[in-house]
Amino acid sequence: MITCFIDFQTSQASEMQKCYDKFVDSLECVQLKCSNSDCGVSGQIIKHAYYRRNVKLGSGKTILKVLRVICKKCETTHAILPDWLVPYSQVLLEDHLEILQNYVKGNTPNTTKPSNPEVDVRTAYYIIKDYRDNWQENLRSISTSVFIGKKELILKCFSEYKFQFMQIKKTKNSLFLSTT
Ligand SMILES: [Zn+2]
Repeated sequence: MITCFIDFQTSQASEMQKCYDKFVDSLECVQLKCSNSDCGVSGQIIKHAYYRRNVKLGSGKTILKVLRVICKKCETTHAILPDWLVPYSQVLLEDHLEILQNYVKGNTPNTTKPSNPEVDVRTAYYIIKDYRDNWQENLRSISTSVFIGKKELILKCFSEYKFQFMQIKKTKNSLFLSTT
């Protein structure tokens, strides 16, 4: 998968697919590098197909159609994921951050419920467990926390660990920073 910074305000849920599509339309695939470490070529990636992915927005569960690109050389496909998603999670990165910030401040999901009504207390506890098992020490060892800005945190996690923050399954992921 390839993660990209895509402008999107979650308060405008109806705009989600539109923002994503606008980004994808303007995406110059030729700039992308294959994130398969056995390959790694640039300039060989083309648009391939779409798949549907559930996302829990405050306004309800919705579906984002996510583009997959394919490397012509090694035939690996890569999902083009927006920075506001966490791979394999339906919960937005900003909701992860809210839950974790409350946790670090000493609150529990029972006392401080997630502000997104689609995210239930049980899910919040799972997110905290994933954080403690997989990311708490990672952040500590690079002297950072869930309180730094979202973009800065994403940049640090990719540069130090090669994964999106809170990504649990270790599928290859690379951050694409548009040069335009
Ligand atoms: Zn490749």
